[in-house]
Amino acid sequence: MTPPTPAVRDRARSLGAADLPAYVYDLTALREHAAQVRAALPDRVELYYAAKANPEPEILAALRPYVHGYEVSSGGELTHVRKAVPGPPLAFGGPGKTPAEITEALTTGVERFHVESRYELHMLAELATRHAPDRRIAVLPRVNLAVGDGSLDGVPLAMGGRPTPFGHDPEEADETVRLLTDGTYPHLELRGVHAHLASGLEAAEQLAVAGSVVEWATGLAARHGVPLREVVVGGGMAVDYADPERRFDWAAYGTGLARLADAHPELTLRIEPGRALTAYCGWYVTEVLDVKRSHGEEFAVVRGGTHHLRTPATKGHDQPCTVLPTDAPWPHPWPRPTASGDRVTLTGQLCTPKDLLARGVPAAGLRAGDRVAFGMAGAYAWNISHHDFLMHPRPGFHFLGAPEEA
Ligand SMILES: *Cc1c(COP(=O)(O)O)cnc(C)c1O
Repeated sequence: MTPPTPAVRDRARSLGAADLPAYVYDLTALREHAAQVRAALPDRVELYYAAKANPEPEILAALRPYVHGYEVSSGGELTHVRKAVPGPPLAFGGPGKTPAEITEALTTGVERFHVESRYELHMLAELATRHAPDRRIAVLPRVNLAVGDGSLDGVPLAMGGRPTPFGHDPEEADETVRLLTDGTYPHLELRGVHAHLASGLEAAEQLAVAGSVVEWATGLAARHGVPLREVVVGGGMAVDYADPERRFDWAAYGTGLARLADAHPELTLRIEPGRALTAYCGWYVTEVLDVKRSHGEEFAVVRGGTHHLRTPATKGHDQPCTVLPTDAPWPHPWPRPTASGDRVTLTGQLCTPKDLLARGVPAAGLRAGDRVAFGMAGAYAWNISHHDFLMHPRPGFHFLGAPEEA
């Protein structure tokens, strides 16, 4: 499952035990994937990368030729992304923006603000008069729309269409549009509408959401007799950890978005995926330290654990992995732990039963010293993990292939 690419496999085998665990990213594979995604989308649809999925500078740079811009959700991400990839436009979103963060965004020329609430709108307006008096700031109110057909029912990370701290309630949208268009805030410009309603949606569900968002936004604009130039329909394209070969259908999504864009020639549509762009380009590589049996189940303890790769713990899944057996002779005078059954549960070094990386992995003959490469570790992996719990050394980081095209 998600076998490592040849370059990652070579690196995984050549690293010494002291260099493990390690995150190994294949930037060539990332670039190929991003190029395919971009090619599947109509020209008129803009692609922003949601930096929170994986903000490693090498990843941001590798994506640069394929994205129009980056979506950032904090002052920290803002500073970091500007430094790593100077130039492309940024959209600043996320709840609870502070006055200091908004001031930084204004003074560094952030191109778009995804405004989450009325309070934030007032604050932005006030700070804009002080820090950016000479330009009009592009505002896209984020709206927590209910998409009427129930397409978000049962979606695990739904953040729209139900009570959440994200965005404006749709009932507030008319007043927000009025404030942005009646001269109350001369330094702000109503540029469009932003929605990001869920994560983990398949192409058909994404298209239904995009259609609802565009329809709602054009209705809003018509009611107020104001132009809307941009509609952001969010990220959240599905990534299937149980079946890594089943990928989000970018071709179908692109075809559907082209129809939607053709029906609204006045609008720029924008998407902002994170996970589905970078999940597949990263592996967490480690080695088996110990193999043991407990109450009928076999466990392999690997170097590292969910404090480096928290994804399986947060999502409650088994991280796809590949065992890379080591041919090197066992270097120690004590016996080599070896699995006796067919299925092994892979755990880390943390003193908690929650430190589970993958259960029931088919790994007959697994031995201490073998390498394991956990796939789909390129998004929401290292950067969401609680690194300091138990104070193990940090993993190494390897970026294979050049970040920019030659
Ligand atoms: C997290 C986030 C995204 C990206 O979501 P993915 O599931 O990684 O595609 C996009 N937009 C906003 C506002 C987000 O918070």
